[in-house]
Amino acid sequence: MLYHSTNHISSKVDFKEATIKGQAPDKGLYFPETIPQLQKNFIDNIDKYSKEEIAFNVIQPYVGNVIPKNELERIVTETINFDFPLVKVEENIFSLELFHGPTLAFKDVGARFMSRCLGYFVKNQNKKITVLVATSGDTGGAVANGFYNVDGVDVVILYPTGKVSSVQELQLTTLGKNITALEVDGTFDDCQHLVKQAFADEELNKKLFLTSANSINVARWLPQQFYYFFAYQQWHDKNDLPVISVPSGNFGNICAGILAHLSGLPVQHFIAACNVNDVVHEYLKTENYIPKQSVATLSNAMDVGDPSNFVRILELFDHEFNSLKNVISSYSISDEETRSVVKEVYLNTNYLLDPHGAVGYLALKKYLRQHPHLQGIFLETAHPVKFYDIVEPIIQQPVPMPGAIKDLLKKKKQSIKMEFNYDAFKDYLLAK
Ligand SMILES: *Cc1c(COP(=O)(O)O)cnc(C)c1O
Repeated sequence: MLYHSTNHISSKVDFKEATIKGQAPDKGLYFPETIPQLQKNFIDNIDKYSKEEIAFNVIQPYVGNVIPKNELERIVTETINFDFPLVKVEENIFSLELFHGPTLAFKDVGARFMSRCLGYFVKNQNKKITVLVATSGDTGGAVANGFYNVDGVDVVILYPTGKVSSVQELQLTTLGKNITALEVDGTFDDCQHLVKQAFADEELNKKLFLTSANSINVARWLPQQFYYFFAYQQWHDKNDLPVISVPSGNFGNICAGILAHLSGLPVQHFIAACNVNDVVHEYLKTENYIPKQSVATLSNAMDVGDPSNFVRILELFDHEFNSLKNVISSYSISDEETRSVVKEVYLNTNYLLDPHGAVGYLALKKYLRQHPHLQGIFLETAHPVKFYDIVEPIIQQPVPMPGAIKDLLKKKKQSIKMEFNYDAFKDYLLAK
């Protein structure tokens, strides 16, 4: 399988190079040359396959021959070594819980897969690879955990001091070994700025082999298809297909779902569930794509004003607005609606939504009101405990802590404090 850049200037690369490079040199995103078609037999008999076999079948065509079969089987098995339950919430609404991984958010899947692929690619090189990542919260934890103990890879995470939640901070700062957390006296944008400057620094790049674990990386994007197949496997009525609602920010997750659908996964319809950051929602109404400044909301992992994967959505539909509209609908949900739906669903069903899942739930609910004969699934992208400071006041009850979080809260944070100053950052990297 080869990947072209969505800007069509850079040359085509294989999966290994796309993973190592992250972004194409012409600043486009890598996109598969063709969309593999799964055998009808595989879809019809999905009940007979293990989740490891499903994941392997789905990803193998994208990886091609750059990772041997036994290694790819190991990588896939390690990537998905937790549960992906489909839980009934109401008569026609189901929650696909993607928060049973180590950092309690769906980003674990992409981060675990990418880290293991990169670990395989650097195995026989004598140079260590250094992954730089700036985080506003969730990405850093998933990446740190995914790369923990991966030989040949050092990870440096930059996060803005005082601006991530306590659970998120502990997830970044308590691993040690090959993971280092830099606590930057600045904002998320400052962290991102330092990372970008490091990638552009020729002197630094001569001495260190730097790469990014950014969410546009194909090795983070493509494995997100897995759990759409796991949902279908658990779906109770294969003659009455589910509408799937995806809480969306950078649109990588929904884009993976649509890719799965175009390669043969049966799905009724997709819903892009957005908070008030609504550029894609507006695009679907007007056919005009106008990036905006992002606005802070309760579902902060979806506060994106110019989603980086939007161009992949266009590419999936060959830039045909009408075919896109046939497959995707969208809703924009306010914080007020988010709060009241968390409360209402908890009171009525005893199911506790996190703010991101709540946006997904309500978007689905609105769609089903207009299509009452259909049923649907929303993706629950994070465990509510990650956002206990938001959720507890709404339901006026403590959120039960999973054991892993109780253990985490006992650990001691270890970070290196740093001014927002490129020279200090560069000196740190060179001295490592
Ligand atoms: C990152 C994230 C999202 C948004 O996913 P995209 O792939 O960027 O659209 C939604 N919910 C949670 C909890 C997240 O961490």
